[in-house]
Amino acid sequence: EERILDGNLFEDESELLSIRPQKLREYIGQQKIKDELSIYIQAALQREEALDHVLLYGPPGLGKTTLAMVIANELEVNVQTTSGPAIDRPGDLLAILNELSPGDILFIDEIHRLPRVVEEVLYSAMEDYFVDIIIGQGPSAHPVHFELPPFTLIGATTRAGMLSQPLRDRFGIISHMEYYQTEDLKLIVERSSQVFSTEIDESGAQEIALRSRGTPRIANRLLRRVRDYAQVKGNGLITKDITQASLDILAIDDKGLDTLDRRLLMTMIEQYNGGPVGIGTIAVNIGEDLETVEDMYEPFLLQNGFLQRTPRGRIVTPYAYEHLGMIHPDTMKE
Ligand code: ADP
Repeated sequence: EERILDGNLFEDESELLSIRPQKLREYIGQQKIKDELSIYIQAALQREEALDHVLLYGPPGLGKTTLAMVIANELEVNVQTTSGPAIDRPGDLLAILNELSPGDILFIDEIHRLPRVVEEVLYSAMEDYFVDIIIGQGPSAHPVHFELPPFTLIGATTRAGMLSQPLRDRFGIISHMEYYQTEDLKLIVERSSQVFSTEIDESGAQEIALRSRGTPRIANRLLRRVRDYAQVKGNGLITKDITQASLDILAIDDKGLDTLDRRLLMTMIEQYNGGPVGIGTIAVNIGEDLETVEDMYEPFLLQNGFLQRTPRGRIVTPYAYEHLGMIHPDTMKE
């Protein structure tokens, strides 16, 4: 079942390319990363060299792919796009590397899912722009040496912790993407509304921003749903009231939590007295796998003060109790 607050792209979902920013100055938010990158990009352009390899990490939907395309645009180079699970063998990697011209970008999404044998070939490609691979099988197998043009690898991952140390060490620029501030999400929603030719007032943009889990992809997705609602139930203009009415139907509350978030918190409260409880135990209890809980629930709940991490496990905060209309155990003791 699809979860509307999932930062991943749905299988049947297509994102308008036109809502993607093209240049760094159109890319909203992530100020620190933009400031750093613009210096490195300028320096690389002045020296007429390939930009250092870049690792972008952070939760899905925060704009890693978009930023990779923006970097390519700024450098005025071509970009080859692939993903970790799509490259099975060293030969597949070589086929892609072979397409690169000097200064080009190779974008590898989900780079933490590269097979180990492929990853090892990548080391020399990144460091010294060559690969040595074995061609053929059995008695006819022989090593072949390929020289590559200088290129920039941009890797994206939701979990930097799952990258091996040798791979991580080969990135000169490592950028941690943060959840977006409400103000920035508001700008993204307003910008996308323009592209959709949809009218939206400030309170409407604010309301969508608040419920988007700090994630541009979700903001754009909610915008599309609210836009439908505004068109059918209203006069087309997206306002705060229209947004609230349409998102209430989707059970997204005013803090951006959906049914699944609330179920996770309520399970911890009702069955574990608010914790501490291990993340694995929580996952089992709500019938999700560990990776999903770690990628899709936890970061948002932690960052927004609903959960807290302790050495003995996660605990539900007093703030979360209050939001859910529950009484915190500490209050009862008094
Ligand atoms: P990721 O690769 O991190 O999963 P994407 O780059 O595919 O995320 O971004 C998801 C969507 O959100 C894109 O369609 C893009 O239009 C939008 N988006 C992401 N970041 C920004 C941003 N900084 N400004 C405007 N739109 C953005």
